[in-house]
Amino acid sequence: MNYTGRLAPSPTGALHLGNVRTFMVAWLRARSQGGRVIMRMEDLDHPRDKPDAAQAALDDLRWLGFDWDEEFTQSERRAYYRECLQELIGKGLAYPCTCSRKDVESAQSAPHEGEQLYYPGTCRGRWKTWSDAAAAIAPRIPCWRFAASSLGDAAKVWFDDAIFGRYAQDVAKTLGDFPLARDEDGAGYTLAALADDVAMGVSEVVRGADLLAATPAQILVARALGCEPPRYCHVPLVVGADGKRLAKRHGDSRIASFRAAGIPAESIIGRLAHSCGWGDGAPCTLAALVEHFDIATIPREPLRVAEFDCARGEFLL
Ligand code: GLU
Ligand code: ZN
Repeated sequence: MNYTGRLAPSPTGALHLGNVRTFMVAWLRARSQGGRVIMRMEDLDHPRDKPDAAQAALDDLRWLGFDWDEEFTQSERRAYYRECLQELIGKGLAYPCTCSRKDVESAQSAPHEGEQLYYPGTCRGRWKTWSDAAAAIAPRIPCWRFAASSLGDAAKVWFDDAIFGRYAQDVAKTLGDFPLARDEDGAGYTLAALADDVAMGVSEVVRGADLLAATPAQILVARALGCEPPRYCHVPLVVGADGKRLAKRHGDSRIASFRAAGIPAESIIGRLAHSCGWGDGAPCTLAALVEHFDIATIPREPLRVAEFDCARGEFLL
C-alpha cells in the first residue's frame, strides 16, 4: 500500500494541544501503514500569519517526536495555484466578483466552524471580462469565485469520511459560489489546499473536524480540475469546558509553554493518545504508538478539556 499523508499547519499562532491531537492522528495514520508524511506550511493567510510561528511549529512538532519526508511552503507555490485558477476560468467554472471586501477576505482563510459565508452568485454572468469587472470597482480588485451555482445536481457532493462516515452537502445551497482567490495570484485556502493535495499525491487528508463542511467544495474543485480527490478523515476537535473550540480563554495550551514548564513530550503524547483510546495515559513516545494505532477507537465527540494551566506544571484532560 502506498499511502501519503500530510501535516498542514497554518502559522497563525502557536501550536497547541488541539492541533497536536489532530497531527498525531494524521502522522500515525500514515506511519501505521508504512506511508509517507508531507509537511506543508499553509502560510497564505496574511495578515493573520505570524512571522516566527512557522519555525516555532516545526520545532514543537520535532520536539514531540514528529518527522516527515518532504517539506513544502505554500507561499512559494503561487505560480501553480495561478495555473489551477486559469484552468478553472478557461472551463467557465470561475468568474470575477466585485462584491464587498468582507467576501474577498474570506477567500484567504480556512473556513473554520461558524465562519462560512454563503454567496448566492450575484456576479455570475455579470462581467464579460476581468477588465470590465476591475474597471467597475477600481482601485479595488475583483476576487474569483467558483461557479457552484451553475452545476445543478453536480453541486451535490457526498463522501465517506473515515471517522464521521457519510457526509453530504449541496454546495450551491450551503456555500454558494465560494471564493477561490483574492486576485489572480491570491489563491485562498480552498483552492490552494486542494490543488496541493492532488499535486502532492496525498491519499488521505487527515485534519480537524472544523473543515468537514469545507470538504465538498474542495471535492468540486478537484473534479473541475479533472483530478481524483483524496480520501478524508476529520478528527474531532479539542474544546474547552464550554464546548467551544480550544482558545486562549480556556487557559494556556501551547506546546511551547508545556515544554518551557518542563513537561516531557511523552507526557503530552501519552495523554492525547489515551483520549483517542490508545494506551492508559502513561507517558509514551509517538513512535511507540504506531503499533497501537486504531482509527476506530477515536470518539466522534469533541474532546472536552477541563481548565489547564502549564504554569501549575500540570494539565488535566
Ligand atoms: N492549514 C489549515 C489549518 O491549520 C488546515 C487545512 C487542511 O488541513 O486542509 O486550519
Ligand atoms: Zn459578487
